[in-house]
Amino acid sequence: MSDEAQRKKCQLYEYINQKLQSNQISFTSNADGLFVFDLDGTIIYTNESCQQISGLTPSQLQHKNFKEFLPQRFLPSTINHFSQVTEGSIQNFDLKIYHKAGYPVELNMTLFPVEACNEIIGVYGIAKNISSIKSNEEQLKNKEELYRRMVELSPDTVMINRNGVCLYINDTGVKLLKAKDKNEVINRNLLDFIHPDFKDQVLKRINVLNKGESVLPQAEKLICLDGTEVDVEVKAIPTYFENKLASHVIIRDLSERKITEELMIRSEKLSVAGQLAAGIAHEIRNPITSIKGFIQLMKHESSPKEYYFDVITSEMSRIELILNELLALAKPKVSDMKEIDLLVLIQHVVTLINTDAIMKNIEIIYKYEKHTCIIICDENQMKQVFINFIKNALEAMDVGGKVMIELEEVNNEIFIRFIDEGSGIPKEVLSRIGEPFFTTKSNGTGLGIMVSKQIVENHFGKVNISSNSNGTCVEVVLPLPVLSR
Ligand code: ADP
Ligand code: MG
Repeated sequence: MSDEAQRKKCQLYEYINQKLQSNQISFTSNADGLFVFDLDGTIIYTNESCQQISGLTPSQLQHKNFKEFLPQRFLPSTINHFSQVTEGSIQNFDLKIYHKAGYPVELNMTLFPVEACNEIIGVYGIAKNISSIKSNEEQLKNKEELYRRMVELSPDTVMINRNGVCLYINDTGVKLLKAKDKNEVINRNLLDFIHPDFKDQVLKRINVLNKGESVLPQAEKLICLDGTEVDVEVKAIPTYFENKLASHVIIRDLSERKITEELMIRSEKLSVAGQLAAGIAHEIRNPITSIKGFIQLMKHESSPKEYYFDVITSEMSRIELILNELLALAKPKVSDMKEIDLLVLIQHVVTLINTDAIMKNIEIIYKYEKHTCIIICDENQMKQVFINFIKNALEAMDVGGKVMIELEEVNNEIFIRFIDEGSGIPKEVLSRIGEPFFTTKSNGTGLGIMVSKQIVENHFGKVNISSNSNGTCVEVVLPLPVLSR
C-alpha cells in the first residue's frame, strides 16, 4: 500500500472513531447493514445487521475486501459503482449475495463517499435487505403470468371493449375471428364483426354496459375476417381497464353445440324414416297387388278396358306419392325456411303415417275451420316434428281409437294439438320426458320429444304436453307470420 493510501486509511480510522465517540454516527441497533470501506474496498467497520445479512461474524468480515464476497456476475458492475463513489458520487444499486447458509439475499446498496478536509478517504455504505420485497414482486409477477395464461388459454374468447372498440382480445378470440394476430382485431369496432341481423342487439348491449350494468347471455352471429359466419353466445360485464370503465366480454363458440344438435335431429329423423319404411312397404304392397291383377286381366283381353288403365295409373300415383314423401323426409337438407301451408304439410305427414294407423285400427281426424294456414318453417323439420308426435300417439294406443289433430288460431299464434286416447303419461315419466334417450319403449330412441322441442324452439315456438288416464295432448304453438295477419 502506498504511503498516500496508508495515510488516508489512518485518517479514516481516526475520523470514524471520532464520529462514533461523539455519537454522530451509530452502527448499532439499525436493521440495515452499515459498513465502512477504505478506498481499496477493504472492510473496516460493520454493524450487527451485516452479520445477520451475510451469516459472517464481524471478525470474518473485517479486513476482507468486498470482492471476496460478491458473486462473479455482480463484480464488474460493483467495482464500477465503487470507483465512482471514490470519485465523489453517491451510488445506489441492487445486488444479490449468498448467505453463509447458502440462500440468496437481495440487497439494495447505497454508497456514500466519506470526506474529511475536502478529501475522500473512504466509503460508507448501507445495505438494505429487500429479499421479501423482491419475492413479493416475483410472486406478483408469477400471479400476473398465471392470470394472463388463464385468460389466453381460456376455451372462450375474452375481450375488453370500450364504447364498442376492442382494447384487448385473447388468443382464442384471434382464432375464433380467423385473424392472423391480435393487431387485426385490437382498436377495431366490434360492429365490424357482428352479423347485420344482430347489430341492433349489440348496440343495445353497449348502451347497457356503458351504464355500468351487466348483460345476460345472448345468442349472436359473428362474421369472421375471412367472411365465414359463426354462432356464439355472448356474456358481458362492466369492468375497469386502465382506470376507465370498459366491458369485459366473454364469447362462447356454439358451432360445436349446433353440430351435435343437428346430428341428433338427423339421426332421429333417419330412425323415424326407417321405422316408417316398414309400414310403407305394407302400404305399397296393396297397390302393387292390384296393378299385378289388372295386368293379368289385360293379358287375357284383346282390347283392355280404359278403366283398367285408370286404376293402374291411380295406384301408381299413390305409390309415387308415398315414396316421394319418405325420400324427401330422409334426404339430408340444409335448413330452408319458407312459407308453407300447414294444412298441406299435415296432409303429407298423414300420408306417410296412415298405414301405421290403419294397421292399429286408429282413425286420424282433423279439426280446423280454415282451408289454409301459412307459416314460415323448414318443411322437412316440421314434418319430422308432427310425425314424432303422431307416432307417439299411435304407440300409446293399444286397442284402436282416434287421434285428433286440432288447429286453433289465437292472437297471431297457431296451436296445433295432437290428442290421443292412449294410456296417458304417468307423472314420473312426464317429469323426465324430453331428456335425451329417455324411453319406455323397447324399440324407442328416446330422442323424439327432445328433437321435436328443439326444432319447434328454433322456429320460435313451444311445446306443451298434458296428460291424464284418458289420453295425452301434445300442443305445438308457433308464431304466425305477419303476412297472414
Ligand atoms: P320414444 O318414442 O322413442 O320412446 P320420445 O322422446 O318420442 O321417445 O318419447 C319419450 C317417452 O315419452 C316415450 O317412451 C313414452 O313413454 C312417452 N310418451 C311420449 N308421447 C306419449 C304419448 N302420446 N302418450 C303416452 N306416452 C308418451
Ligand atoms: Mg317417439
